[in-house]
Amino acid sequence: MALDSTRTSKDLPADAAHASDLKRFVSAGRGFWSNVSAADWNDWHWQLKHRVTALDQLQRLMPTLTPEEYAGTQLANTKLALAITPYFFNLIDAADEHCPIRRQVIPRIEETGTAAWEMADPCGEDSHSPVPGLVHRYPDRVLFLVTDRCAAYCRYCTRSRLVSNATGYDFHPHFEEQIDYIRRTPSVRDVLLSGGDPLLLSDEKLDHLLSRLRAIPHVEFLRLGTRIPIFLPQRITPALCAMLRQYHPLFVSIHSNHPRELTTEVREALGRLADAGIPLGNQSVLLRHVNDDLVVMRAHVQKLLMCRVRPYYLYQCDLIAGSAHLRASVRKGLEIMAGLRGHTSGYAVPTYVIDAPGGGGKVPVSPEYVLSRNHDRVLIRNYEGRIFEYPEAADGRPLFAAPRAIEESAFL
Ligand code: SF4
Repeated sequence: MALDSTRTSKDLPADAAHASDLKRFVSAGRGFWSNVSAADWNDWHWQLKHRVTALDQLQRLMPTLTPEEYAGTQLANTKLALAITPYFFNLIDAADEHCPIRRQVIPRIEETGTAAWEMADPCGEDSHSPVPGLVHRYPDRVLFLVTDRCAAYCRYCTRSRLVSNATGYDFHPHFEEQIDYIRRTPSVRDVLLSGGDPLLLSDEKLDHLLSRLRAIPHVEFLRLGTRIPIFLPQRITPALCAMLRQYHPLFVSIHSNHPRELTTEVREALGRLADAGIPLGNQSVLLRHVNDDLVVMRAHVQKLLMCRVRPYYLYQCDLIAGSAHLRASVRKGLEIMAGLRGHTSGYAVPTYVIDAPGGGGKVPVSPEYVLSRNHDRVLIRNYEGRIFEYPEAADGRPLFAAPRAIEESAFL
């Protein structure tokens, strides 16, 4: 891999050295595809056409498959499709069976085991769907499922029930009904385009979709959820950015989980989106042995800011069938959040959420900072664990009387 920095991390304490290495921007390079022309390599259609999608191909490129990966890959297409772009494949460390990139995209036999509490539709999206391909769970916004395809497939995908059966459609077969529902529902002011990955559509198709939505007067705000800048940064062309910038306010939420995903290619692609005036946020999923580690997560959120991306959500992994081996504990998630808040820039701290199983929506979870409160005062803890008292402005009236005592037992 080619480095673009001359900083060295030797002489630093182990954690700091590890963080410093994780934060270096590195190119994915050409790896196995070194004989491919630059024109082909940088063409997103070429990348899609040459994805790694089968066991024999994977074995040839990576003879170090573990027995669990071999068995999982044999069955891959019965649960969730296997596809990895050549660009992203180059980020895998074939010599490290615990490589965090590898765990996200290479199937494992554990995917075939399903716990009693795991579900095909863990967020209950199908039960909040007024027309096929549209989810209306919250009052003022809808999730618009644009396509059922992705550039590569994540082993923990919440929508594996959709993307594993991808038919390759461009617009959803119920596209006109999706648009019509939004048009006749004035409460919808915010539309999130997702899938699958909406950036797999051609510029022309996306342009058409966005212009149809922009023609609806009550749609104030458009969002696009995509993992393409990470799996396929070649897709973020100047022409795409020029088209997207016509539809402001338009935000883009990317999906990245580990600092090694933030390469020089990704940083440049995100820079093109940011230069088009598109505010960028990131959604991560907390994954066991991928990013359930404070040093890794801190490096990741700090590196995202360097790419002009605001960490937005950290998701507790949904109860997706076959994902137990990838789910980290909520306890671990809270520990990581406590290690971020106050210890690094507020802009770098995402909101940690659990999507309430079965369709309850996103519930923010946070370490306890309010220890106790009554009518007169609030007892708070700072990031260092020190305790402070804030006098309550009861009903907007200034407080003159001495606050009542708070029982220590209430917060110990
Ligand atoms: S990119 Fe998103 S929709 Fe596609 S497989 Fe990954 S998590 Fe699922």
